[in-house]
Amino acid sequence: MKIALMCVNPKLYTHRRLIEVAEQRGHQIDVIPTLRVTINIASHKPSLYLNGQLLSGYDAVIPRIGASITFFGLAVLRQFEMMGVYPLNESVGIGRSRDKLRSMQLLSRKGIGLPVTIFAQDPKKAAEVVELAGGAPVVIKLLEGTQGIGVVLAETPKSAQSVIEAFAGANVNILVQEFIKEAGGSDIRCFVIGDRVIAAMQRQGAEGDFRSNLHRGGTATPIRITPQERAAAVGAAKAMGLNVCGVDMLRANHGPVIMEVNSSPGIEGLEKATGIDVASKMIEFLETHAKPGKTRTKGR
Ligand code: ADP
Ligand code: GLU
Repeated sequence: MKIALMCVNPKLYTHRRLIEVAEQRGHQIDVIPTLRVTINIASHKPSLYLNGQLLSGYDAVIPRIGASITFFGLAVLRQFEMMGVYPLNESVGIGRSRDKLRSMQLLSRKGIGLPVTIFAQDPKKAAEVVELAGGAPVVIKLLEGTQGIGVVLAETPKSAQSVIEAFAGANVNILVQEFIKEAGGSDIRCFVIGDRVIAAMQRQGAEGDFRSNLHRGGTATPIRITPQERAAAVGAAKAMGLNVCGVDMLRANHGPVIMEVNSSPGIEGLEKATGIDVASKMIEFLETHAKPGKTRTKGR
């Protein structure tokens, strides 16, 4: 196969592994620096250029689109799709995953376990919102946050109210969620490929932190997940329309609740914690599925 790897930094662990594994398996894999591509929109002839060269002949594209370049990255990916190149994840699924609220609405429609989550604009509704989320303690999070930044635990109704007012004053959108205390500062990352969870790890937050993000000093260990957790992860990937994703969940008393679905998940922590060759499994998926005419969204 001839594979395009859309990314900004080919030196990142995940990208290095994908290149190494694809080449070992006999494929040609070209790094496409997403931000340097030119999109040529012409009737009946969608095309892409890199440094004046037409990009052509690709069987598959692996989109690695960081949150900060979502808009342009998705435009490039849609163009690949319109050119008939099979994407590891389709643009539509990635677009959904970039909007936390939209993602949760889609997951709730499919009956997938979620923490009670309240969204409102009017800071005058703060007391009502906290009540609806089950009362303090509640977790208040920035709709646009990543890596655990902007995720706050408010222990009392008063503190919840002042945090909500502070965020409203800063003109940012927030979600208010029931606090899943029994998760004990840890979460589970399930790595889904197709309709299987191919690896899972538990992440434990740094001492005294209720947030389990590795970027915040958390540690990762392999974990055996339950059939219910497996079904929730695969169901979430399906609801989002993603072939490959990292599904983060908490173990609540009433079962797994999904926190987030990551459409460009990193594999370093997971490969190192579990010893599983995740990169090969991603390339294998392309080997099985990247056939002409198999792109469903055609850039819609
Ligand atoms: P980000 O997308 O910035 O990583 P998350 O919403 O995933 O933010 O929250 C970061 C971490 O905080 C989670 O991985 C989890 O450990 C903890 N956390 C988030 N929401 C809750 C909640 N409702 N109850 C308990 N812990 C939570
Ligand atoms: N981008 C990282 C991933 O998807 C975030 C992981 C984290 O901070 O825990 O793997």
